[in-house]
Amino acid sequence: MNLNQLNVTEISGIGESKREVLQELGIVSVMDLLEYLPFRYDNHQLKDLADVKHEERATIEGKVHSEPSLRYFPRKKSKLSIRVLIGRYLITAVFFNQPYLKKQLTPGQTVTLTGKWDAHKMTMTVNDIKFGIQPQDESIDPVYPVKGEMSVKQVRRLIKMGFGQYGDQVEEVLPVSTRDAYKLWPRSKALYSLHFPQSFEHLKQARRRMVYEEFLLFQLKMQMFRKINREQSAGETLNFKEEDVQKFISSLPFPLTGAQGRVTGEILNDMSSPYRMNRLLQGDVGSGKTVVAAIALYAAIASGTQGALMVPTEILAEQHFQSLGQLLGPHGLTVELLTSSVKGKRRADILSRLAAGEVDVLIGTHALIQDEVEFFKLGLVITDEQHRFGVKQRRVLREKGQSPDVLFMTATPIPRTLAISVFGDMDVSVIDEMPAGRKAIETYWAKHHMLDRVLGFVQKELDQGRQAYVICPLIEESDKLDVQNAIDVHAQLQQYFQQYNVGLMHGRLHSLEKEEVMREFAENRCHVLVSTTVVEVGVNVPNATIMVIYDAERFGLSQLHQLRGRVGRGSDQSYCILIADPKSEEGKERMRIMTETSDGFVLSEKDLELRGPGDFFGNKQSGLPDFRIADIVHDYRVLEVARNDASKLVNSKAFYTDDSYALLRDYLKQTGAFSSERLD
Ligand code: ADP
Ligand code: MG
Repeated sequence: MNLNQLNVTEISGIGESKREVLQELGIVSVMDLLEYLPFRYDNHQLKDLADVKHEERATIEGKVHSEPSLRYFPRKKSKLSIRVLIGRYLITAVFFNQPYLKKQLTPGQTVTLTGKWDAHKMTMTVNDIKFGIQPQDESIDPVYPVKGEMSVKQVRRLIKMGFGQYGDQVEEVLPVSTRDAYKLWPRSKALYSLHFPQSFEHLKQARRRMVYEEFLLFQLKMQMFRKINREQSAGETLNFKEEDVQKFISSLPFPLTGAQGRVTGEILNDMSSPYRMNRLLQGDVGSGKTVVAAIALYAAIASGTQGALMVPTEILAEQHFQSLGQLLGPHGLTVELLTSSVKGKRRADILSRLAAGEVDVLIGTHALIQDEVEFFKLGLVITDEQHRFGVKQRRVLREKGQSPDVLFMTATPIPRTLAISVFGDMDVSVIDEMPAGRKAIETYWAKHHMLDRVLGFVQKELDQGRQAYVICPLIEESDKLDVQNAIDVHAQLQQYFQQYNVGLMHGRLHSLEKEEVMREFAENRCHVLVSTTVVEVGVNVPNATIMVIYDAERFGLSQLHQLRGRVGRGSDQSYCILIADPKSEEGKERMRIMTETSDGFVLSEKDLELRGPGDFFGNKQSGLPDFRIADIVHDYRVLEVARNDASKLVNSKAFYTDDSYALLRDYLKQTGAFSSERLD
């Protein structure tokens, strides 16, 4: 019996009204119910308040000390506060949306509170209260996400009923051999224990089993994509002559670093092989990805095809147009720029020459791969700084042209765990070495009250002919407020640096205006550039030696590192000054780390640790899968194991024929990774 297709109403005791409430939680089938997992486990063992850390969840016992005070907010929301004496501490306990507790709470009463502790405010936000002295036990209480009329207790009861009737029919997906090898619990037992754990040890075993399963299924899908992409999408075999490309490399103004040489080899190898390249090139800001791109483009053209370079902003497109033009132009190659500001006759001209094969390399924004743009023979597509692309978008890109090779470049060092999950279907190259002779950027952390000194320092650098970036406070998700901030700071700095030209850049400017500001800055007609984070990606102005970041605590480490990477691009000593008064320990930690390390990979690992994978790309479209149980930061070892196992499986004969893999195959068919959805 397939529990996925069995309606919850098949469980005796669940009727129409319960079905409706369950549906609100996204539960339709019996399996949905059995797999509706707790997001947290509470353990109501009493703690000594002195042992509870800031922001930790805990259970404490105390005596109500004051009459409760109740406040109402719009939409029936309410907040109830009371003072509670815990040992010798008097704390505040806060209850949201439980106004009825007001009648039940009287001074002198003993209560047991479970909730989150704020050590600074001496306040606990309570989500479970028990009255009277409680017997001490070690029970573990799973907490489920609920809404509407459903309570956690009710959900638990329904799940129990579900298991009573169908628990023994939960299908196993993992082959016995795998389960034996890692001593993993059967699926039904693991699921049951996640709902009704007897002990923390059981919980651990149950989780371990489900985490492996989740990762394995995911990695099977990724490895399958990768295999199909390699084997079935007969990519163009580019037939450039190696000596030609070598000649181009020796014509470059500098020798390649070891790392550049290595990744170039990997890329050229992919391009000349019969399968289609699908490769991610990672390299810290300033590691020299542009020349690597130039070499790849050169090889594509030497094979009689065209190349395209796609970037997220017009400014970046323009810069690449200049630098690639300088590298490729002298070899007789035609490089053109196509953005939304290229219009009319000029646009028509570029498009027709492109279709006729007279343009060798086209550089531009996203528009570049849209329908109206026709290549004569597109052999290679490179994207720069597009690490936010998810699996889907990547596939769309691969489907453009006549099956071109694709290279993704990113300056965001991606921690390995994320790289093998988000980019699990790709090959990865890393430039882990900087060109020789770079001076490390000195990074300082200053508090707001030191702003005058910071500006004094900036003034001194300006007096020596240098330029400075000033990045404005970032206000969450609000472009409008960000812009206002930038305008305010710009006005202040114009006052402060009267003898210098202070420019302003933000996302509300028209792209032509942005380019004009950027050009003024690049040509040293503007000396201080006040900007929102739009300046973040890829821009190159070697004479800029100072990066000042206001309210730096609002940025993640990876983003701070990206911003810092705008300076230190010339031969002069550069500085990055973080102005921040972080309130949280985590914020302080970030500032400290920034002043201590300049290694992008170290920073990205820390960033992942501090902020979690969801925030890492700063964007929901990261392509990061939503794992239900697994946590790619804490379970990364399992992720690696699962990846290896998945890779072995998809490349083994038995996987496609053996009965023990039937359920895994079914899963792949359902997700479309197998046969139903073609990749090209
Ligand atoms: P990014 O990886 O951030 O895109 P770029 O390609 O813009 O880095 O390179 C940064 C700077 O380093 C450029 O000015 C480039 O000319 C220079 N550069 C790149 N490779 C080398 C090298 N092997 N030796 C010396 N300078 C290099
Ligand atoms: Mg670059």
